[in-house]
Amino acid sequence: MKDRFGRNITYLRISVTDLCNLRCKYCMPESGVESLCHSDILSIKEIVEIVKIASKNGIKKIRLTGGEPLVRRGFIELCKQISEIDKIEDIAITTNGVYLKEMADELFENKVRRINFSLDTLIKEKYNDITRRNYFDKAMESLFYAIKKGFKVKINVVLIGGFNDDEIEDFVNLANKYDLEVRFIELMQIGETANWSKDKFVSNKIVLEKVPELEFDGVSGVAKIYKIKGQKGRIGLISPISCSFCEDCNRIRLTSDGKLKPCLHSKDEINLKGLSGEELEEVFKRGIFEKPEKHHLEDGKSESARDMNKIGG
Ligand code: SAM
Ligand code: SF4
Repeated sequence: MKDRFGRNITYLRISVTDLCNLRCKYCMPESGVESLCHSDILSIKEIVEIVKIASKNGIKKIRLTGGEPLVRRGFIELCKQISEIDKIEDIAITTNGVYLKEMADELFENKVRRINFSLDTLIKEKYNDITRRNYFDKAMESLFYAIKKGFKVKINVVLIGGFNDDEIEDFVNLANKYDLEVRFIELMQIGETANWSKDKFVSNKIVLEKVPELEFDGVSGVAKIYKIKGQKGRIGLISPISCSFCEDCNRIRLTSDGKLKPCLHSKDEINLKGLSGEELEEVFKRGIFEKPEKHHLEDGKSESARDMNKIGG
């Protein structure tokens, strides 16, 4: 379905939980987040009903995210039920990968084919530092298992000045070696990072400065894709800060407590929890129709009142 600015909205990102087994410093407070009351989060049944209505209204692609989606009870059942919904062509997940290896076979059986792994460093000590947890080996095992299993894998790297800008070449080499896409994402000033010092926020341009052999190879969704001649790896640059992609935005978001967020950076939220049938469809359609024209970043800061773990990144 089209919004009032003529954009065709085909992509729904669903945060299935706010909870996570990691505590990435840019995303979550050290103490974690308060667990919402069971009755406040969408049940598997409610999520499936929303996806059915979404698919009737033009949504073709679902991404399941969080928090950490793999810690949500009933996650595989959710994938199974979504895979049975007419017109849903693509189910993807965004995960830190820690529990992926043990769930990968069942996810594959239930038509999940695309996995975005969040991995900000290839060095164990730095991983433990940024995630405040000790799961580097598990995450890496999952990554290589997923590649072997045949998932389409992308690695999300949030660029943080002074932390991982010295590993850009290593990530590019990894992309070339394993024929996968590494996406460098600019750190957003939202929630936990609202008061981080300016030097942590580096522009993606640094990737092209460090690896000048990268050549522009087109646009894919919100990413500008680059490749090195003769190499297989794809490098995606996602710049929510230095370049706005609102004009082509085809996505909406659903939070784990049932709020439709037509725009990541807007305060606007539309409650879907407790609604069903025609009423749910009506409100869902209104949410799409009223999607804001573009996001406003006040002095670089997001207007959204939620941390990323509550929106789903
Ligand atoms: N737990 C899963 C994971 O880490 O992949 C899914 C949820 S996480 C919130 C989704 C994405 O948001 C991750 O790739 C993470 O790096 C990104 N993210 C979180 N906080 C961010 C921030 N302040 N700026 C940019 N990206 C952020
Ligand atoms: Fe958890 Fe993902 Fe946030 Fe890291 S980025 S704390 S893995 S939700």
